[in-house]
Amino acid sequence: MTDLIRGCDDAFWPRPIYTLPTRLTWERAPDVTLVGDAAHLMSPFAGEGADLALIDGADLAREIASGPDAEASLSRYEKTMFARGAKSAAASQRGLDMMFVKGPPRKLILFFKAMEIASKVARPFARIPASGKGK
Ligand SMILES: Cc1cc2nc3c(=O)[nH]c(=O)nc-3n(C[C@H](O)[C@H](O)[C@H](O)COP(=O)(O)OP(=O)(O)OC[C@H]3O[C@@H](n4cnc5c(N)ncnc54)[C@H](O)[C@@H]3O)c2cc1C
Repeated sequence: MTDLIRGCDDAFWPRPIYTLPTRLTWERAPDVTLVGDAAHLMSPFAGEGADLALIDGADLAREIASGPDAEASLSRYEKTMFARGAKSAAASQRGLDMMFVKGPPRKLILFFKAMEIASKVARPFARIPASGKGK
């Protein structure tokens, strides 16, 4: 990996990774809420930030449509969103801790080896159609 970086023939730009605190919540502010990264910015090591932004938007729309008023809708939305964001933020922190270690990232290597084994185990089942019947 380090040879790969040393071998780059173009400028190499280190990028900072910004995050919000893992269990960030806030007091309800009338008629205002946040979705996506604005609510729960996390490192990309859970690979879920875009998914969360989309599901936040869908949940918020559903809660607004369910009424009876903005305050009730936003309270319900934030309760769900805070719990979901915290879970993913904790996962992304674990991923970040696994990536950036002094010396070889042994936990990361084990993680990918486990994924490889899991994909081999799951492969025969992937061919079975959802209905359980053949074509
Ligand atoms: C390297 C990297 C890899 C990632 N990999 C994954 C992945 O594999 N899977 C995954 O699900 N997520 C991933 N993410 C996270 C994902 O990109 C974000 O969580 C997602 O884009 C958040 O969407 P958002 O709409 O909340 O915010 P953004 O996508 O940041 O959208 C906010 C928008 O608002 C605009 N804006 C800001 N200020 C203003 C203003 N004052 N007026 C008008 N417009 C403004 C910005 O220009 C931007 O277009 C990754 C992120 C990074 C950095």
